[in-house]
Amino acid sequence: MSTAKLTINLDALVTNWRNLDALTNCETAAVVKANGYGLDAGRVGKALAKAGARNFFVAAAEEGGALRRALGPGPGISVFSGHMEGDAKLLKDFQLTPMLNSLDQMLRHFETLPGHPFGVQLDSGMNRLGMEHGEWAAVAEIALGQNPVLLMSHLACADEPSHEMNAQQLKTFREMTDGLEVPRSLAATGGMLLGKDYHFDLCRPGVGLYGGLPFTDAVPVVQLDLPVIQVRDMEPGESAGYGNAWVAQRPSRIATVAAGYADGLHRAMGNGGIHVYAGETPCPVVGRVSMDLITVDVTDLGEVPQMLAILNERQTVDMLADAAGTIGYEILTSSGHRSARTYLG
Ligand SMILES: *Cc1c(COP(=O)(O)O)cnc(C)c1O
Repeated sequence: MSTAKLTINLDALVTNWRNLDALTNCETAAVVKANGYGLDAGRVGKALAKAGARNFFVAAAEEGGALRRALGPGPGISVFSGHMEGDAKLLKDFQLTPMLNSLDQMLRHFETLPGHPFGVQLDSGMNRLGMEHGEWAAVAEIALGQNPVLLMSHLACADEPSHEMNAQQLKTFREMTDGLEVPRSLAATGGMLLGKDYHFDLCRPGVGLYGGLPFTDAVPVVQLDLPVIQVRDMEPGESAGYGNAWVAQRPSRIATVAAGYADGLHRAMGNGGIHVYAGETPCPVVGRVSMDLITVDVTDLGEVPQMLAILNERQTVDMLADAAGTIGYEILTSSGHRSARTYLG
């Protein structure tokens, strides 16, 4: 094997969906934008549909079309970016439900696809997508006359349970939607963990399904194994990699491994703190991360295996993210594009 091997455990994904679903009394959908957080929206969608998920969310209509091809007719597919100019044919052909974000989108939708299902995205304070309070007040009556299937909003700070923004957005969302008798949705992964007040009729977890924080009870879904290209012995004082950034302090064995920042291993990870695993044994990554290569101190290993794991049960996407100063979402969506993929389950 000369390329990295990404193993995606669909059974673990389904377990995460079921465990999140068990926290609620409402419908649990699945967010599969960015090609299923990099893991293949079609494969992820099919596994979750088989497990009972009936609603999926994507970012753009094009993603929705690809997902519909994979899932076939039946499951609901909703589009966060709403109804953009030129989307009508995609929305119609692939039975996608746009979450309308503005008066402009609403007018476009009613004009080009009268009678086609839609939801409305409301801005409860994040100032990213959706209609603000005033705009909604002005158009709510017209929108409600056309029977929206969902009123939704999104939390800005749900990964910080004690953040005052959560309660504030909950209050605003309630003020905008109480008494309207349309199904409602506010919570993504973080919101689901804030408790039942945040659940309404439908929850929309993404990252937790894929094994990421803030769902601390998630089981890991991905393993990334990297092939060892070469092993060398070094004397104390010799240096490895660009910029002589790492210098051997003892007689050392260094393995050169085939993955780098072009595979999503951020260059900042080279500043220390990450390992690759030979089975259960951690080996420190040393020196700078190159485009296609990293160097690993395997001095304390008896025998160097052909592959070393950089993502596994011991070192999760969130641990790699910490080392790179980013979040698990970014590691998931940027890792393993060049890898050979295996799907388990
Ligand atoms: C990405 C996204 C989600 C899923 O969020 P996670 O934090 O990954 O669970 C839900 N709703 C909206 C509007 C999103 O953009």
